[in-house]
Amino acid sequence: MVTDNNRPIFMLMTTLNVGVLAAALLAIACGTLVSCKTDVRPDLVLVTVDTFRADHLGCYGYFRNTTPFLDSLANDGIIFENAIAASSTTVPSHATILSGLHPSQHGARTNGELVRSGVRTVAEILSVSGYQTAAFVSTSANFRPAGLDRGFHCFEDPGSQGDKTGIFAARTTVDRAIEWVSREEDDQPLFLWIHLWDPHTPYQPEQMFTDRNETEAEQFVEFMLRERCADLGFFDGDPWKLRTVMDAYDGEVKAVDDAVRDLFDHIGKLRRRPAVWVVTGDHGEGLGNHDWFLHGRYLYREQLHVPLIVHATDDRFPCSRISTPAAHSDIFPTLLELAGCPVGGSSDYRAGRSLLPLLMTESQRDHRLTFSERRRFGRPPARGPGHDPEISVESPVGRELYDSEDQRQAYVARLIRRHLADNFEIGQAFAVTDERYTLIHRTELEDLFFDRSLDPCERHNLSGTNSVAENRFRERLAEILTVLAESAQDAELADPEVLEQLRSLGYVP
Ligand SMILES: [Zn+2]
Repeated sequence: MVTDNNRPIFMLMTTLNVGVLAAALLAIACGTLVSCKTDVRPDLVLVTVDTFRADHLGCYGYFRNTTPFLDSLANDGIIFENAIAASSTTVPSHATILSGLHPSQHGARTNGELVRSGVRTVAEILSVSGYQTAAFVSTSANFRPAGLDRGFHCFEDPGSQGDKTGIFAARTTVDRAIEWVSREEDDQPLFLWIHLWDPHTPYQPEQMFTDRNETEAEQFVEFMLRERCADLGFFDGDPWKLRTVMDAYDGEVKAVDDAVRDLFDHIGKLRRRPAVWVVTGDHGEGLGNHDWFLHGRYLYREQLHVPLIVHATDDRFPCSRISTPAAHSDIFPTLLELAGCPVGGSSDYRAGRSLLPLLMTESQRDHRLTFSERRRFGRPPARGPGHDPEISVESPVGRELYDSEDQRQAYVARLIRRHLADNFEIGQAFAVTDERYTLIHRTELEDLFFDRSLDPCERHNLSGTNSVAENRFRERLAEILTVLAESAQDAELADPEVLEQLRSLGYVP
């Protein structure tokens, strides 16, 4: 919400070009306007999990026990019930997490676009303020090419091991991080970013998630239909197909939980300082909601609602569940304030605000709207051989799906190929949400407005009914878009080799 206090900043910012804005940001972010207190500085561990739907974690009410460790971390810490992603795509969301800016402001509006050179990240600021900074990420195609390795004394991805196109499993990424931390002195505070890829397609977990018996399996399917908006029609009316997809996805979620537990235990033994852990996801996944399997195309709730758990090993925060909406852009100022480097008052240009007052007490609770955006699609994605929706394997049905892992994977692979080939919606999209409503503005298609208290699955479009709530959301959206218009400039693209890798994954700018 624009307040009287920050409106002058907002008006000023709308009159400046992006270069000046970047310079202003740089001044704020580099410490010229920030004085860091260095007496009490915890280690900061940021864990971002790719394609991590909040509603598939136990602490967000899931039926299955997919995340026993993260649940315990949340129970002994703080869980944000309404954390909203900046976008439904990997690089834009991560760049917002690390910079505190909306995607149109930092410049990486989709995978393959670069973070602008004037944008400072939390790693850059912490690295010059006395922190040792290190990142261990699980994919080579996204972060280093976009410029998100900036500010890290150590930045490792599969390419660091000579694997430019590979993906590391959570187990591997965490092992590399543990090995590195074990070699470091702990005379300096540490900022560690861990990115884990496992719940991203193709969903090939070492262990599928399995229900204990048939009764539990039936109860699970009922839960998905009743509580998670699952659409059996998407799965050809076959509960076994629904279970196949969820067993695979949840198996990946469980693998992440196991890896984070291991990381937490090792860091606890290796470091003497207290640590603050922040765990989130970069975006969700369709999993059949809104007739869509993947991410990147839409801004519905299942795409944007991500976990956000904050845990301090020295119990500096009271345990709580916080319903006030939080955004990816809040993580940047929160980490800086925890490090003793508060950025200062919020503005409409600097998208986020520190969550520290909320972490200490939710008395700071207020009504808040979050903002998300999706790249512009100008033409359907190129359809190379990897995106041919026709594959030769016939999909088995019912229990036959479970006769072999090959058959299950063939079914999931067919869904992935079909949806990668159709990962397109013309124009741009912007979402404004709060605890109850969702407004999705689409530049080339009709707008969408949902009241999730009556329609949690976002199926009944109320746009155009001239409600007070929709009008309020539209006013806020207009304010943000005015600011973003100042950031509109041509994107810088990654080099052709990287673009080709992204194209092979179905993410074409
Ligand atoms: Zn992602």
